[in-house]
Amino acid sequence: MTLMTIHSTRMLVLGSGPAGLSAAIYGARAGMEPIVVQGIQPGGQLTTTTDVENYPGFAEVIQGPWLMDQMQRQAEHVGARMMWDTVVEVDLSRRPFRLIGDGGDVYEGDTLVISTGAQAKWLGLESEHALKGKGVSACATCDGFFYRGKKVAVIGGGNTAVEEALYLTNHSPEVTLIHRRDTLRAERILQERLHAHPGIRVLWNKEVREFVDGGGNAGLVQIELVDTVTGEISRIDADGGFVAIGHHPATELFRGHVALDEDGYVAVEAGTTRTSVPGVFACGDVADKVYRQAITAAGTGCMAALDAERFLQAEEFAHATSADEDMAIAAE
Ligand code: NAP
Repeated sequence: MTLMTIHSTRMLVLGSGPAGLSAAIYGARAGMEPIVVQGIQPGGQLTTTTDVENYPGFAEVIQGPWLMDQMQRQAEHVGARMMWDTVVEVDLSRRPFRLIGDGGDVYEGDTLVISTGAQAKWLGLESEHALKGKGVSACATCDGFFYRGKKVAVIGGGNTAVEEALYLTNHSPEVTLIHRRDTLRAERILQERLHAHPGIRVLWNKEVREFVDGGGNAGLVQIELVDTVTGEISRIDADGGFVAIGHHPATELFRGHVALDEDGYVAVEAGTTRTSVPGVFACGDVADKVYRQAITAAGTGCMAALDAERFLQAEEFAHATSADEDMAIAAE
């Protein structure tokens, strides 16, 4: 017989990237004794990143896994409890909210912070995998700086791809956008900016066949393309290749339990982390398809803890007031 353990807290956090751990740090300091259920990738996307140069507070380059280790230790230091489990079921229909782990353990929270993150979509090529971090990236804002003065290409035709191409012109004299069709999906205003920019050329009807490794320490040197109309094969020179074909928000568990937007991200009330379920808050990339940075995730994590604390305070105040009224009525 397996013994089921119930872990209870005033603030339950699911996901342990910068959003979840920042929520835990603020939640612990507010006395909510948070439990963080770490999920399948403890530390989130930064644990698969190497150099981090854009997280404020560090004059020298730091490593992603080190930064996440520090955040986790800081959260533990102020009193957050870490749990390693894979949540397979949620019940948000009543409070306390319940998450059920694959071994049967139950996590109960008076409030819940969803910070399960998102994963970049990849093309699925072997050469793409082999050259990740050596020329191939899924985040121009994170890695574009490393390619200053070099030739770069962005793959995709949505808002992200166009924004990344425009962003890369800050560093690179030669930016190529590679799109598999002859029309972009991106908003018109972004398309206008793209076409007006002299530093960007667009290659239409092209799919990436291979990222070409220069051998030795060279990393990416060329991208091999196939024309989706004629089938013609060609190559372009590129030191950096940015795959910008979308993200998968990790929201499958919550489908049908909390409102998601049309792209599957948790829908939050503008300017807050409040979701469609009172007492459930969402922060970080699971609710953000625009900024997707460690620092913005950490910022919204802080917001989620403050929103959760205020939610509990308002509830306690309402209970205290109604208890006072009951006593006054009884005394009459
Ligand atoms: P997206 O809109 O889904 O666009 C993905 C692009 O990648 C599409 O052009 C698609 O081509 C292409 N693509 C997908 N799979 C591919 C493959 N295997 N090979 C080659 N190309 C492939 O994704 P997104 O640009 O990341 O945007 C996601 C959501 O976030 C959208 O709702 C977007 O509006 C929003 N967003 C908003 C902002 C903003 O408001 N500033 C910024 C970024 C994102 P096809 O066009 O041929 O399908």
